[in-house]
Amino acid sequence: MSSDLHFCTITDLSAQLAAKELSATDLMSAVIARTRAVEPRVHAFNSCDEANALTQAAASDARRDDGQSLGPLDGIPIALKDVIAVTGQPLTASSKMLEDFVSPYDATVTTKLKNAGAVLWGRANCDEFAMGSSTENSAFGPTGNPWDVTRVPGGSSGGSAAALAAGEAIAALGSDTGGSIRQPAALCGVVGLKPTYGLVSRYGLIAYASSLDQIGPFARTVEDAAIVLGAIAGHDERDSTSFKTDIPNYRAELATRRGPWKLGIPKEYFAEGLDPEIGAAVEKAIAFYKSQGCEIREVSLPHTQYCLDTYYIIATAEASSNLARYDGIRYGHRSKNAKDVVDLYFQSRAEGFGAEVKRRLILGTYVLSSGYYDAYYLRAQKVRTLIRRDFLNAYREVDALITPTSPIPAFKIGEKSDPLAMYLCDIYTIGVNLAGLPAISVPCGFTKSNLPIGVQLIGQPFQEANLLAIAHAYERAHEWSAKTPNL
Ligand code: GLN
Repeated sequence: MSSDLHFCTITDLSAQLAAKELSATDLMSAVIARTRAVEPRVHAFNSCDEANALTQAAASDARRDDGQSLGPLDGIPIALKDVIAVTGQPLTASSKMLEDFVSPYDATVTTKLKNAGAVLWGRANCDEFAMGSSTENSAFGPTGNPWDVTRVPGGSSGGSAAALAAGEAIAALGSDTGGSIRQPAALCGVVGLKPTYGLVSRYGLIAYASSLDQIGPFARTVEDAAIVLGAIAGHDERDSTSFKTDIPNYRAELATRRGPWKLGIPKEYFAEGLDPEIGAAVEKAIAFYKSQGCEIREVSLPHTQYCLDTYYIIATAEASSNLARYDGIRYGHRSKNAKDVVDLYFQSRAEGFGAEVKRRLILGTYVLSSGYYDAYYLRAQKVRTLIRRDFLNAYREVDALITPTSPIPAFKIGEKSDPLAMYLCDIYTIGVNLAGLPAISVPCGFTKSNLPIGVQLIGQPFQEANLLAIAHAYERAHEWSAKTPNL
């Protein structure tokens, strides 16, 4: 791995911290120095509190000096997407609506990371309310892709992915409703994991579409992702959709699960619209698994063609309901120009929300409205069941599926003005959310113009240990994760 501290893995750094070759304070200082140097070009963060991070790092050092037995995340700087609540820190969802909002409480994942000793660092930029695929919908300006800052990092968790790829954090958390962890991970050349729906608590995550949203890690390696997942997963009584299941030691399981596996190639995912360089890189990854004795089978997910429509009905319907709370009364921006209370709602929302959020809320309100509910929302829920069944049928034959993560590499900031063109960026990722499955994006190469490419592995519900082991087998045999951008 890199000799620069800011490009090291959790695995490396935690060993150095444990051996007292490095202090958490020195590590945090190195990450701060790196952030100061590159952040003007990358803009991965909406805010970062250096003094607070150094205080947390000093506390980690004190624990270590005290001889306490510490886990692998103790002293590790982790950036959180600006939709995950941290007490006393800004929580903006990259929206003018919440520009001045400070969180009064911790998300469950935040509490868990604090308990693991992690240093919470940097509020990562994202598309407003996590709606988008490029981070251009942030009210605070776009994030640049560290591999080419004139290009997008993907989205919506683009700030989390870019911070990690640029060496401004050692790991990060994002949220994934339709691809928002995996697609930016692919575009920035890092690992991104969307866990099974219900594995990680959503308490303290600003809701976008509650039946699809899931928090997950960004990391440099699959092993690092396993470490972070282990820290944040688990049942939480404050999230009624969180599932009661045993949490294995994902990191330890990497060494014990060795395949060979049966991998399925969904034929619908290798169709028109896939960039040829990405197609070729994914084919090479498939060939690698074959060379390791894995059985590769073509499978069919016949309802794939309905994923985009189904997603944009369900996600917008749920968003219109979730975002009704931003009314200028209880949360966030309040218009100064309102004549009466109804006008206050109108004006506050008109001023506080950006164009894409408004588009989604209008669409979502329409599909839920009386007379249209059955035709759109109810129908979309039925199709969603068929989409999930497609995956479960495939899993009778195979352990996991292998696909591209994104149909295209990082595109230029400002290049896509048509919303539909943007929605198509998630064509390979949204089915996973509709079906509630776990999936991981792992770096698998670069285009001729040196832009990262990701391969997606889709696992069976709550089989993250298997999924991570399959991804790890590929990663171990390749050097992609060790490459860092020239910033
Ligand atoms: N790009 C998709 C959307 O805009 C997915 C976003 C996400 O996963 N949060 O809805």
